[in-house]
Amino acid sequence: MHLDVIGLLDTAQFIASPNCDERPPGTDINLLVIHNISLPPDEFGGDGVIELFTNRIDSQAHPYYQSLQGLKVSAHFFIRRDGNLIQFVPCHKRAWHAGVSNWQGRERCNDFSIGIELEGSDTTSFTDAQYEVLIALTQCLCQKYPIQHIAGHSDIAPGRKTDPGPCFDWQRYATDVNRGDLFHASGHVSIGHEKL
Ligand SMILES: [Zn+2]
Repeated sequence: MHLDVIGLLDTAQFIASPNCDERPPGTDINLLVIHNISLPPDEFGGDGVIELFTNRIDSQAHPYYQSLQGLKVSAHFFIRRDGNLIQFVPCHKRAWHAGVSNWQGRERCNDFSIGIELEGSDTTSFTDAQYEVLIALTQCLCQKYPIQHIAGHSDIAPGRKTDPGPCFDWQRYATDVNRGDLFHASGHVSIGHEKL
């Protein structure tokens, strides 16, 4: 895996999302945010997430989609159940994944974070293929950017968001991420929020 000068990953399929903009000048990327998403909810393998992130979702296609009308969101990365990796926003740009959020007193986490969506839900275990790709992606990002912390969406938007949810195995993730010779960019990364 390799990231180019604007933060495009060579092993990901790139599908450009218009839902992004410039990060504030001089902002370092300090945070990774882990999410889960599936559209329709709890249905995997369809094009709903791609349609949402590219503003092409058909509000008539599913009752739930009516609640998504006009929503302008994105994430940098989306890891499907089979490990297929899609990138929607170059890492150097600000994706719109966190919403109203706060990490250790810093608001607007989109400014300084990279968002990774796992295809899944709060009630379904994630697949081995997803963990493998997530771990390799995390290692790649941490070597490139001064990441200091990896948090769940629920950690930066408590009470409002629940993902990646109780089925995400923070222990497994942290153990496997730390197995490599990592984190050259920042020296130290903490993973999870009062979970480990
Ligand atoms: Zn989320």
